[in-house]
Amino acid sequence: MSRPTTRYDATRDHLGEVLAGQPRYRVDQVWEGLYEQLAAPDELTTLSKGLRAELQQALPLALDVVTESSSDRGETVKWLWQLHDGTRVETVLMHYDERSTVCVSSQAGCAMGCTFCATGQAGFDRQLTTGEIVEQVVRAARRARDDGRRLSNVVFMGMGEPLANYDPTWAAVERLHGALGLSARHITVSTVGIVPGIRRLAAEALPVNLAVSLHAADDALRDELVPINRRYPLSTLMDACAGYLQAKGRRLSFEWALIDGVNDRDRDADLLVERARSLPLPAHVNLIPLNPTPGYAVRGTPMRRVRAFRDRLREGGVNATVRQTRGTEIDAACGQLRATHASSEPVAIRR
Ligand code: SAH
Ligand code: SF4
Repeated sequence: MSRPTTRYDATRDHLGEVLAGQPRYRVDQVWEGLYEQLAAPDELTTLSKGLRAELQQALPLALDVVTESSSDRGETVKWLWQLHDGTRVETVLMHYDERSTVCVSSQAGCAMGCTFCATGQAGFDRQLTTGEIVEQVVRAARRARDDGRRLSNVVFMGMGEPLANYDPTWAAVERLHGALGLSARHITVSTVGIVPGIRRLAAEALPVNLAVSLHAADDALRDELVPINRRYPLSTLMDACAGYLQAKGRRLSFEWALIDGVNDRDRDADLLVERARSLPLPAHVNLIPLNPTPGYAVRGTPMRRVRAFRDRLREGGVNATVRQTRGTEIDAACGQLRATHASSEPVAIRR
């Protein structure tokens, strides 16, 4: 038997079925309540008590909190969630001066096997549904509101490869845009380089930001760090990136986790400059000092060399920034919280 639809997996049609017998405007009322007021059904005081209770039961949440931790004086909040089948994913909310960004998971685990990534080391559990992705954003948006902030940005940089779960991910993007009212320019999809996915993304109407996790600018090294490079080598990947730029007319970014002695040499910077400048608009480069993971015996590049690498890119004419690291004391690096709390029980908070 199929499970009841979760609150944010429900489409307007689903709501219509749940609200059968009610006046038609109820669907809009509930939809706006869920997405514009970020309310739970039992908080919709314009509905009768009986109907609220019925909806609360018909539209259960999908995510149970296992742990919620905060750091950076409350500026970073991280959740480990448990899904109905026991699989676990994580979400991180980060408040900055001028924006609040949530980093969401698109899959439970990941099948791409990048050697330096905790999620990749643990393997693939299953795809997330649209509602499981959207709920991460709504719950972070509620938390941002409680913190006196407004959630403004969404990045698909949590667990999983969004373009290997294309349809649910794209449906989530459309929901975030259409129902939550987030601008496409404030939504970033990060990919390890799934070329057919990038081409599909280029054909979509919404111009989301694209981040490509490059990490190496020559095929030999990239094959090692990012195994999917053997299927979609750099020449094919660059071609798809150029296609995305041509379709959207907007700069894309390359992610580069700096690994001590592996991809942080002058030669790596020079090759990266070449790749970034080979595009119709030079790519912006985001440098991230590698977060150490238990399954990979190499360290992040020391900060002094991170800056030198950044400066070399800039001298080569490429825009580069060093990503602020957030939440390291709460294991807010990809996949790490889940590994630390492998045996914790979820706490029963259901709204
Ligand atoms: N699968 C997608 C999105 C999730 S990973 C992708 O790979 O782009 C989000 C980002 O975290 C990617 O840029 C990824 O390379 C990076 N990342 C993974 N493990 C990391 C680590 N140990 N240290 C620093 N960055 C890491
Ligand atoms: Fe998957 Fe991204 Fe981690 Fe690679 S870096 S294993 S694609 S989550």
